[in-house]
Parts: sequence; C-alpha cells; structure tokens
Amino acid sequence: MDSIKNFINYKQKEIILLVKKLISIQSFSGQELMIADFIAKFIAEEEIKVIKQKHDQTNNVIVIIGKGEPTLIYNGHLDTVCPTAEMWKITKPLIPLEQDGKIFGLGSTDMKGALASLIFAAFYLKETDFQGKLILALTAKEEIDGSGTKAFLDYGVKKKIFTIQKTAALVAEATAMQMVSVGCRGSAFITIQVKGKGGHSANPDKTKNPIGKLAEIILDLPSFVADLGKNYKDEILPLPTATPTAFWSGVVSKGSEVLTTKKNSVPYLAEAIFDFRNTPRLTENNFEDFKKELNQFLKKFSADGFKITWDFTAKPGTGHKIDPNHDLIKLAKKTLEENLGRENIKIGFEQGSNDAAAFGNVGIPAVNKVGPGTIGVNHKADEYVEIKNILLATEFYIKFALNYFNHFGGKNVNPKN
Ligand SMILES: [Zn+2]
Repeated sequence: MDSIKNFINYKQKEIILLVKKLISIQSFSGQELMIADFIAKFIAEEEIKVIKQKHDQTNNVIVIIGKGEPTLIYNGHLDTVCPTAEMWKITKPLIPLEQDGKIFGLGSTDMKGALASLIFAAFYLKETDFQGKLILALTAKEEIDGSGTKAFLDYGVKKKIFTIQKTAALVAEATAMQMVSVGCRGSAFITIQVKGKGGHSANPDKTKNPIGKLAEIILDLPSFVADLGKNYKDEILPLPTATPTAFWSGVVSKGSEVLTTKKNSVPYLAEAIFDFRNTPRLTENNFEDFKKELNQFLKKFSADGFKITWDFTAKPGTGHKIDPNHDLIKLAKKTLEENLGRENIKIGFEQGSNDAAAFGNVGIPAVNKVGPGTIGVNHKADEYVEIKNILLATEFYIKFALNYFNHFGGKNVNPKN
C-alpha cells in the first residue's frame, strides 16, 4: 500500500469528522464568516499559512503550500443553498447523519465533503517535497454570483501570488469521481415585460391584454431556442435552453404574498422570468449576440401596439470550456484511471454553471470539475455524499497535484497567454 493510501486510512476518521463539523456550521451565501473562521483555524493548527480574505461581505480562505512555479489552484465554495427544512426526512439540514456509508446533511455533496478532501490533501502535501505551489481557494457566494472566486482572483493577481501563464485550476464540484468535466453553460436570467392596455374585462375589445401576448411569447420560445441551438451550438456543451420560471399579471402583491387578484379587469402589464442557459459561443462578445437575437425574436410580438421590453434580472454569467485534449484534462483522467484504478472515466460537462468560468475568464485553464459529491442530490432535501468518494477524492487531489507539478514543472501551463 502506498504512503498516500496509508495516510488516508490513518486520517479517515478525522476526515469524516471534519465533513460533519462543516455541515453543522450554517453557511448560506453571504453568511460564510463563521465557516471561514473555523476552517482558517483548523488549517492554521497544522502550521500552514492561511490568509483570510475579506472583501465587502465576502469571506474567502486562501491556503498556500510550497513555493515557486507552476501553481495549481484547487477551488471549493463555502456556501450552501437555503433549503426547505420541512422537506428533510432522514435528518435536519445542519445535523449531519452517517448511515450506510453516506453522510447526510446540507452541503454534504455541494460541497463540504469536497472541502474536507481538499484540506486533508493539503495536509499531506505540506509534508511532501515538490517544486511548485498549491493554493486552496475556498471561496464565498458561488451559489449566488460567484463573486468570492472573482475576488480571490483579483487578490491573487494583485498580490502576485500566482502568474496566469504558469497556473491552472481545478474546481472540486460533484462528479462522484466518475467524470472529468470540461465545461459548463453560462446563465442569464431575463425578465420580459409586456405592456398592453388595461380596462374592464366585460369590454375586452377596448383593451390590449398583455397576458395573451406574453403567453404567445412563451409558446414561441422553443422555436427561438432551437434557432439559437442551430446557430450557436458548441461541439462539447449541451444546446442552449430557455425555461420560464415565473409569470405574473393581474395580481396585487407585496413580496411573495398576493394581496388581491383583479378578477374583472384586464391588466396593463404582464411579466415573466426566464432562465436562459447559454453556450459560450453565444456570449463570447459579452452577450452582444445574445441581446441581438433576443431583440430580433421579441420584435414580431410588438406589431399590434404592445410594448415589449426585457432586462437581465441578475448579472449574466459566461460559460466555461476547456479543450478536452488539453494536458490538464488528460492528466486528470490519467490520474483517476492509472493512479486510482478507476474505470470508465467519462469526459463530460456540467449542465449548470460553476466557478470554473471565473478562471477561464482571466485566462487560467481549469478542470471544470472533479469532486466527491453525488450527482443530482445538490440543492435538495436529504442531500448526501458517499464516504468512499470523499476518501477517493482526497487521494485524487494529492496524486493529481503531484502529477501536475511533475508534468508542468518548467513549462507554461497555458502557452497561449
Ligand atoms: Zn456547488
């Protein structure tokens, strides 16, 4: 048995204990201070240098092991998505429970299990000789706007902690250690507003009903998205999608509470929110193509006097993509297959967006994701992670880092930059 496996066997109980401890600390997006403090203290006890980066309400933990170049950044996020506590059956969100080789609890898969694997991988590597620098970037607010990782990258460049040319990254999101992800689509949340003409609903011919018009738009949306798919498809990533997620009109509301509905009048306004998932090609010129296509599509609905406008509901996010033949991806696959003995490792993609986009946007090649989390259980009640995958991930993060420093020593990781 190799020394890495020995280390993981020896530390197994501590790793599992750390996963449970992390689950028990509430860390909704924007409220990561407590977990950041805990992790910083936990790591500092091993006499490792820890930087607590505070930026507005953002609390990141940065850990640096080794020195020189090349640099490898392991990225994990500290925040979780606020769950509906009543839906949990097996345990409560902040009460970790171990059962049948799994740990249940909020963030177990997304991604406190991965955080524990990264931290213990760093503990091992601290005692190991290698030429280069490993950085753990444990960041805030991934689930809302990715601003934690962006703040980390700004800080790292400014303080010259790494150079873009000699740095690569890996995001530790869930792949159940079965897949190496090479990209994800971007997201754009859009509000479309239709203004018509209100009036008494007994005389509908004297009104312009925005409800019907907005319904027409929604019904025609699949053809619009199909055209986008034809013109902007990506050879790796799935086609763009647009999903209506909210629709309202004719109601008087306060927040999410409906105060009254207007039963006998035609409203003048109808609104809907759409979740667009874009391929990188559609957004590579800072969403200009996307805006142009959407304006073109909406134009035909305003022919009979309706006023149709749209806006981004939140700042849109670009997608991420790395060439599946990039040495970094080959190295990740090889590490899983040859060093960990995993079979049938898939090269795939992520449907949703993740922090890998932030690395791509500054020119750092990134493995979109490899992590211990279970696929499909994130953001859901009774989220769980398999213990065997947490241990496998710890082994992977150690061996991949060593392979990386070996392979890229003295080379530019990203010769294009
Ligand atoms: Zn996540």
